[in-house]
Amino acid sequence: MGKTDYNPYENAQTQFDNVANMVDLEQSARELLRQPSREYHFTIPVKMDDGTTKVFNAYRVHHNDARGPIKGGIRFHPEETADTVKALSMWMTWKCAVVDIPLGGGKGGIVCDPREMSQSEQERLCRGYVRQVYKAIGPVIDVPAPDVMSNAQHMLWMLDEYETISGGHYPGAITGKPVGMGGSLGRTEATGYGVIYTLREALKTLDIDIASTTASIQGFGNVAEYAARLYSKMGGTVVAISSWDNADKKAYTFRKKDGMDIEKMVSIKDRFGSIDKEKAKEFGCEILDGGDWIAQDVDILLPCALENQITPETFKRISDQVKVICEGANGPTTPDCDELIKEKDIYLVPDFLCNAGGVTCSYFEQIQCNMNYFWPIEEVFEKLDAKMTSAFHAVHNLAQDKGLYMRDAAYVIAIERVANAAKLRGWL
Ligand code: GLU
Repeated sequence: MGKTDYNPYENAQTQFDNVANMVDLEQSARELLRQPSREYHFTIPVKMDDGTTKVFNAYRVHHNDARGPIKGGIRFHPEETADTVKALSMWMTWKCAVVDIPLGGGKGGIVCDPREMSQSEQERLCRGYVRQVYKAIGPVIDVPAPDVMSNAQHMLWMLDEYETISGGHYPGAITGKPVGMGGSLGRTEATGYGVIYTLREALKTLDIDIASTTASIQGFGNVAEYAARLYSKMGGTVVAISSWDNADKKAYTFRKKDGMDIEKMVSIKDRFGSIDKEKAKEFGCEILDGGDWIAQDVDILLPCALENQITPETFKRISDQVKVICEGANGPTTPDCDELIKEKDIYLVPDFLCNAGGVTCSYFEQIQCNMNYFWPIEEVFEKLDAKMTSAFHAVHNLAQDKGLYMRDAAYVIAIERVANAAKLRGWL
């Protein structure tokens, strides 16, 4: 997805191959893990409100389930591609493994633009998706969740369709549901909060006080919003936010050098993350080009939008002041930038560690659904923080001990866990 020369699936395979060479992974494990184990490509005919029928292309990809049922979101995007979904399915396997939750990795996607569809058209699309993959999903097979432009309401329609077909209640079949309908408190905040828990720990290891730092954020969807909120709450100053303007079909960077009031910015965005330009000006924001978020004189960069945003071309614009990059998005950095990040001595918290808070809370949601007993929000955040913090330190310590780059260290831990599970099952 996204019109660049980079193919995320090739990026995901390049990252995997580099680490497979580094740890001398055996050939059969390489073949098993560098590609998905199952892929479903299908069409969904949907009756539109005007009486016509539109046919949507969709995917569900299972990368690996050696450690447990497949887990991963379903993205709604007009530029979704099979290769992007395949890459994201691989990253989900590593994500679940690095935070040590007993789940495998997968991803889904529908080529659509929910911003241009009515609620009832979206409902029919969600139900159609489940009808097409019904046999391949379920609480012990594959558990979908929200992702880019999909939300709790979409998940509930999907669950309802699943339960209608199966004739029973299976709340653990889909996560990211609305609170009160089998959803976990804190799921909405979880990915963004997880990003900031790892940032907090990274800054501690660098001996930097979070309250003295400034940040620039790409994106203002769910992940970016809650990352910005928690970062500000911890005393950090958000100087710039870049967000997509759906009316103008381009991104803008909103900048306020003395720091933004995040609650005010949230009050002027729509549910897809577009910020109202006129109101932002009233709040004292300058409006710059969408790509300028990367060129700000800040300590921290938080790419929380889409893949392939930090490329050798855009990397040149990164200020010497930047000390940490926390990848809230999946695959925001192309593999040819990793050497540049090392050279510039920027501390990287890699995507599948940094943004694992969402799936970790989905795992908590499944547990709560299985018990039919729901935890208070404080308990969710406490458990989430503990999981993210311990995963961060496992990766950081390995990177320190073996002199590894943080992305490689995270891969070493994840690949070894998954390869080991496959071996114990007798697959390898
Ligand atoms: N879509 C989220 C991710 O990429 C969460 C997946 C899940 O909760 O299963 O991590």
